[in-house]
Amino acid sequence: MLKANDPSLHSWIEIAADSDFPIQNLPYGIFRTDTRDPRVGVAIGEYILDLCVVGQQNMFELIDLDPNVFHRRYLNDFMALGKPIWRAVRNRVSDLLRNDNEEISGDSNLIRQCLVKQSEAEMLLPVKIPNYTDFYSSEAHATNVGAMFRDPANALLPNWKHMPVGYHGRASSIVVSGTSLYRPKGQLKVADADAPVFGPSKMLDFELEVAFITGKETQLGQSISPAEAEDYIFGLVLFNDWSARDIQTWEYVPLGPFLAKSFGSAISPWVVTLDALAPFKVKGPEQDPKPLPYLDSPGHHHYDINLEVLLQPKGSMATSICRSNYKHLYWNISQQLAHQSSNGCNIQIGDLYASGTISGPEKDSYGSMLELTWRGTQPITLSDGTQRQFINDFDTVIMRGYGERHGIRIGFGQVSTEILPAG
Ligand code: MN
Repeated sequence: MLKANDPSLHSWIEIAADSDFPIQNLPYGIFRTDTRDPRVGVAIGEYILDLCVVGQQNMFELIDLDPNVFHRRYLNDFMALGKPIWRAVRNRVSDLLRNDNEEISGDSNLIRQCLVKQSEAEMLLPVKIPNYTDFYSSEAHATNVGAMFRDPANALLPNWKHMPVGYHGRASSIVVSGTSLYRPKGQLKVADADAPVFGPSKMLDFELEVAFITGKETQLGQSISPAEAEDYIFGLVLFNDWSARDIQTWEYVPLGPFLAKSFGSAISPWVVTLDALAPFKVKGPEQDPKPLPYLDSPGHHHYDINLEVLLQPKGSMATSICRSNYKHLYWNISQQLAHQSSNGCNIQIGDLYASGTISGPEKDSYGSMLELTWRGTQPITLSDGTQRQFINDFDTVIMRGYGERHGIRIGFGQVSTEILPAG
């Protein structure tokens, strides 16, 4: 077990039992306040530990890094230092926050400089994302969509169990939680119409996903094996892959997702490290047929992380509409990264690789409105009595996620997006 994951660790900071951010988590983010410019912080309970200030106190002097790496608008320069440094910093932060360590806790002046209340900080997009891929790795989701749009008897296409199918998405429109998005406009064609019209999407949807972020690059021509993949992965975020189903239905043939997807996607602000998630590793489903050798990935590479989606109309309470789990994927993240790099495409620092919609086997675990309302034919009723087939203007969609073992919860916080009327 990694030292910083020890369930018996306690912090000198008081942390609620149901907090997403106990001392065993220590996710990284970029924050600013009225008096602090953007910088790297670590979430701890309701606070942020300002790593810029900690670095200025020479508290990372035993680690081979320039503490100015924490005085940055993005995590990319820190991620570029590599896994041994990520791990050394996490261990050092864990030590500094332990209840038997007085380096910070013994100095009330320093506590005031180091700790910022999360409620007083603005969280920024944590990573400069050069490339974004979206996989399609949930068997229940691929089966539901295939049954709805094609043939229930042959819902999965022949390639699906041989490779983690995916597409290249748009990185420029990935926003951090709390950023509102406009309803997209596009070409819409109802099935019995002769010609399309241009206008606001009437079938706006979310997709419940988790994404991993790479912190190590490869050169053109180089590939990553599943066994090496975890050295390249810095951490995970929650990901809402906003989708316009009516635009998608008309545009996607023959080349796949395009403007129905590229108007916006949203991520949670805290990047939870793979190290912090190690206690939640589980075995994935039996893969039959056996994957080709370059995708062979024995062992435990799935993660047991509870996921939830809530829908909140303006001025109303939020209603929980979906409970799923990250472990429901067929292909694991090591296989996804191995496949992505298998053709020699170079991997960059800050790349984001999303799972695809994570649907479970039960109806209330479906990770999109498309599936929850079965293409709008079975509307869902919210706690305020209103119904939804898809997402209305001024609705907010909130996604949450956490793993829990031995009474320790490692959480992601949330990704929340309000939809504004089309511009
Ligand atoms: Mn997606």
